[in-house]
Amino acid sequence: MIAVLKQGTTEAQTQHLIEWLKNQQLDVHISQGKEVTILGLIGDTSRVDMELLGSLDIVETVKRVSEPFKQANRKFHPLDSIVRVGNAEIGGGNFAMIAGPCSVESEEQIIEVATAVKSAGANVLRGGAFKPRTSPYAFQGMKDAGIELLVKAKYATGLPIVTEIMNISTLDLFADVDMIQVGARNMQNFDLLKELGKTKKPILLKRGLANTLQELLMSAEYIMSEGNENILLCERGIRTFETVTRNTLDLSAVTVLQELSHLPVIVDPSHATGKARLVPPMALAAAAAGADGLMIEVHNNPSCALCDGAQSLTPVQFAELSQKVQQIREVIQ
Ligand code: PEP
Ligand code: MN
Repeated sequence: MIAVLKQGTTEAQTQHLIEWLKNQQLDVHISQGKEVTILGLIGDTSRVDMELLGSLDIVETVKRVSEPFKQANRKFHPLDSIVRVGNAEIGGGNFAMIAGPCSVESEEQIIEVATAVKSAGANVLRGGAFKPRTSPYAFQGMKDAGIELLVKAKYATGLPIVTEIMNISTLDLFADVDMIQVGARNMQNFDLLKELGKTKKPILLKRGLANTLQELLMSAEYIMSEGNENILLCERGIRTFETVTRNTLDLSAVTVLQELSHLPVIVDPSHATGKARLVPPMALAAAAAGADGLMIEVHNNPSCALCDGAQSLTPVQFAELSQKVQQIREVIQ
């Protein structure tokens, strides 16, 4: 981090500021030009309050020259991380094909979808039990009964399972869940992130509706700072002025996140577009961009789905897509 001091700052004021910075366990490198003085702050600057420093009378500007996320940073961990979810490995060239319904609705539904997506090449089963819905009157998920059915589908198919947590008080219900999802709406629920950091469960961390990539990485850092390094980052579309699609898929996020971090990066084209016909082309584009995986909503009867039917593929559509994804991966490898 560097701080550029205003012209006319006296020697005494500069020394006073340096003392204050040193008291924060930072070393200070002074670059004394003819007109301006620049202070280079060395050490763990992640705890420095940039706004406070920038608001001081003698400070012109403050700039970060290193990222505030450390454990998630590729600079500190050059090799790709591989996250193990049940019997699936994700990252470092291993692709995650996560598929399943938006919500678990019944035993028949989840077993039918699980069996179909498995034979089409999925290696992780998804299914929501606790659903964060915009309306309190919409279907809120089957909750603990939903998790029980998902676990049944896991034992019936051998697929590891991922499902969303909304409140840490329900953590005990996730004992047989292989990966816990933190949804877009909870990406900055820091208390939840910290508690999940104390578990060893893989975490699927989705980007918030209006969050920057740096904010996503800082949320991963919250989990990692408590000791849990098993994280998948998920781009799922962000809120823009566009209304044709549910969200706007930010595909450059894949490359940017992979440059900045060693954590696997997956894409959810279902929530990003909100429309089933847009899911295959965006899924293929994500695979072509080098994503470490996809998460796709699949329903055995999308027109009757209790949640997100419009963006759900049928098992047949998913099987076709899965083959094409495989072909794209062979081309780019
Ligand atoms: C989901 O994956 O079920 C979901 C609710 O997604 P998001 O948090 O990205 O909206
Ligand atoms: Mn959904």
